[in-house]
Amino acid sequence: MPDNCLFCKIIRGEIPAAKLYEDEDLLAFRDIAPQAPTHFLVIPKKHLSGPAAVSEEDERIVGKMLRVGSEIARKEGIPEFRVVFNNGAQAGQTVFHLHMHILGGRDMHWPPG
Ligand code: AMP
Repeated sequence: MPDNCLFCKIIRGEIPAAKLYEDEDLLAFRDIAPQAPTHFLVIPKKHLSGPAAVSEEDERIVGKMLRVGSEIARKEGIPEFRVVFNNGAQAGQTVFHLHMHILGGRDMHWPPG
């Protein structure tokens, strides 16, 4: 776990977060700057810099991110939601620890712009 990674610090409890779920593989917490009425992030505890850093050995955890994220969304009352992974600065990635956004509670538009 890199010392200076923001999400590793949240995993280690060095920075507070509004946690929704935690197990040995994953952590989910509310986004600090929500872009929808419900907006949370699901992250692996293993530090991966982003989607393009996922290797074959990580495939189980990435699938689990989708399953657990969907279960949290249902519990949060948003059975319909958008899932976003940003890869790289041009795509809007600002935190270089893999994270899955789940957003819901309002109408979404496509393309996202
Ligand atoms: P991205 O732009 O895809 O890298 O998303 C990073 C997300 O992390 C943004 O939506 C931020 O609002 C969110 N974020 C940054 N710092 C925190 C924090 N301390 N707690 C919760 N969410 C955060």
